[in-house]
Amino acid sequence: MQLKIFKRGISYHKLVSWYSGLIKKNSPAPPYIHVTQIGDPILRHVAEPVATEILKTPEIQNIIACLKYTLKKYKSVGLSAPQIGSAYRICVVQFSKEHLNAYTQQEQKQKEMYELPLMVLVNPELKITNFNTVTFPEACESIKGFWSNVPRFRAVEVKAFDENGEQINFKVNGWNARIIQHEVDHLNGKLYTDIMDRKSLTCSCWQVVNERRGKITLPYFPD
Ligand SMILES: [Zn+2]
Repeated sequence: MQLKIFKRGISYHKLVSWYSGLIKKNSPAPPYIHVTQIGDPILRHVAEPVATEILKTPEIQNIIACLKYTLKKYKSVGLSAPQIGSAYRICVVQFSKEHLNAYTQQEQKQKEMYELPLMVLVNPELKITNFNTVTFPEACESIKGFWSNVPRFRAVEVKAFDENGEQINFKVNGWNARIIQHEVDHLNGKLYTDIMDRKSLTCSCWQVVNERRGKITLPYFPD
């Protein structure tokens, strides 16, 4: 609700100062190397574009470094700047061989999975190139402990800048198109819970909760 105050057009500086005011003394300041969780106002803010003049500044390069570090630490396939507490339009995506191998051949085929090298996307813009939607289970590091069925467009064209300010343009389909749509949604203050099949929302460990008589804790940072 409070975020309604911050409509598009508010200065980035104002947002940072307001957000910093919510952070208790002695708490770490963004960019974090942990992942913010649903309810954190930063996840509902429409992130600001990165002006080309500031792309190579230590501030932006540090956000990119933190994104890469946190992505690796969480073994994730995508992470956006708001998820580490920064309201800039930057995300990182990847679908490594290790990620691919976690699925059966049948699933890989069904979900149109293929490798995607680690990419930094600054100010990404998406053009939908296939309006057919496909619905598969999806999870988010910012909605820890849950997954849900989420429809996504089957293919998109991506225009963005890389971390060096070079323009990149590529097409993706299937699972990689899903990953990129998910991350760009984050930059627009959207979460998968906004578009999911609501009845499919599932606690990832509901069986273990029963097996252990409820005695289970959910870590918010990887081991
Ligand atoms: Zn997410």
